[in-house]
Amino acid sequence: MVKITKKVKYLIIGNSAGGIGAAEAIRQVDRQGALVIISDEPYPAYSRPLISEYLARERSLERMLFRPADFYDKNDIGTFLGSRVKSLILNEHAVEMDDGGRIVWEKLLIAAGGLPIVPQIEGIEKEGVFTFITLKDAKAIDHHLNGTMRAVVIGGGLIGISVTEALMKRGVKVTIVEAKERILNTMLDEEASAREEATVREAGVSIVTGHTVVEISSEGKTVNSITLDNGQVVPCDLVVVAIGVRPCTELVSDTGIKINRGIVIDRHMATSSPDVYACGDVAEAYDFIHGENRLNPVWPNAYLGGRIAGLNMAGVRTEHQGGLAMSALKYFGLDAVSAGIVTPPDDSYEVLKNVFDDNYRKVVLKEGLVVGMVFVGDVEKSGIIYSLIKDRVNVSSFKQALVARDFGLLSLPEERWGPYLKMPTSGVISQVVSFERAGEIIVGE
Ligand SMILES: Cc1cc2nc3c(=O)[nH]c(=O)nc-3n(C[C@H](O)[C@H](O)[C@H](O)COP(=O)(O)OP(=O)(O)OC[C@H]3O[C@@H](n4cnc5c(N)ncnc54)[C@H](O)[C@@H]3O)c2cc1C
Repeated sequence: MVKITKKVKYLIIGNSAGGIGAAEAIRQVDRQGALVIISDEPYPAYSRPLISEYLARERSLERMLFRPADFYDKNDIGTFLGSRVKSLILNEHAVEMDDGGRIVWEKLLIAAGGLPIVPQIEGIEKEGVFTFITLKDAKAIDHHLNGTMRAVVIGGGLIGISVTEALMKRGVKVTIVEAKERILNTMLDEEASAREEATVREAGVSIVTGHTVVEISSEGKTVNSITLDNGQVVPCDLVVVAIGVRPCTELVSDTGIKINRGIVIDRHMATSSPDVYACGDVAEAYDFIHGENRLNPVWPNAYLGGRIAGLNMAGVRTEHQGGLAMSALKYFGLDAVSAGIVTPPDDSYEVLKNVFDDNYRKVVLKEGLVVGMVFVGDVEKSGIIYSLIKDRVNVSSFKQALVARDFGLLSLPEERWGPYLKMPTSGVISQVVSFERAGEIIVGE
């Protein structure tokens, strides 16, 4: 049984981007205060975006670790891995564990992430139906694979494309079923989606858009086909449900802590309950593009939110400047980057576009500020646009340069690029132009 009789100063639920960000920030300012991380996953923190490479057998767990194996010891962080928090007892500043143990805390961070959305489809409970969120999911699919197989992936978003690529690398023939008219429809605009779709089809994947799966059938216990809403039957040996994640708010649902779609937090990452903070996929943090709190379930937002929560928990009052929706994809060899508003809702926005060679660039402006972008193909310079978005730079005087073929740092006014010329190259790369796929930034850091 988990038992800590002494009160811990900091308790973190969730050992992933948000939890680690918070632990690191806490240890920057408080080396002594007792700090404990709990996770129901039994592994040291790993990069979740890399589970597709694990399934593809291109990466071992050791090469997915977010921090070196001795991170917890070196930072004097206690862990309960493979342990689940059952409930929060806010009036006693305690959590109750699944096995009945209790931990008492002074400051609590909920970094419990998201859970897969599983639709109510007939046959969804059958053997051979999987989700794809955790390393355990990747291991379960790996265990199921056996010779030449056919898979149906329900959902053509980031997770659906990522598991599709891994399955294809394992020799599985994949059909993606996407209910909307185009894949990657939340993060890309129409043109970029079309380019992605062409690339994915060229790789041999079948894509059905505008339809849903209404039934999963089996021979014995194991799936052998799905039926679409138009009656078409697609034979398959496994089904992966990848229609999205929802905030894992179960822990707080009966506590009175304010929840909207996710846990509601302020600019200091504090929830409506004193001494309780939240960050990452479980929380609705401030989005500076929309000027409101939103769900933005991506790794860098979770990590940064965790850092801000950690500083505030340790007594260094720090305000979150806000995050934004952003993605950097590289599936089937095609690079794409998107951030902020990619499809403007009305004509108060200005859109600049350019297509050259195999590249597509789009920048969305509002009142002289960049509020969104999509780059497909050569994405190297997207980091500069990203820094213009984040720094709220008025680009009116040089906006046409943003989508030009030769766009670069020198396209900006001197006061923007001048300071970087005095930095070592690595400083330029990390501070200005770096916009990497999340999993690749973190590994080996
Ligand atoms: C396949 C896939 C690909 C992705 N690709 C990208 C990408 O390319 N770029 C990008 O930016 N983002 C990507 N993401 C999203 C990114 O992984 C998430 O935004 C990020 O992991 C969120 O971090 P988090 O700390 O909020 O929560 P999570 O990473 O979800 O971690 C939360 C942890 O808390 C644990 N937990 C929950 N409840 C309890 C409890 N009661 N007791 C104990 N432990 C608990 C969970 O088991 C989990 O281990 C991807 C996600 C997936 C699944």
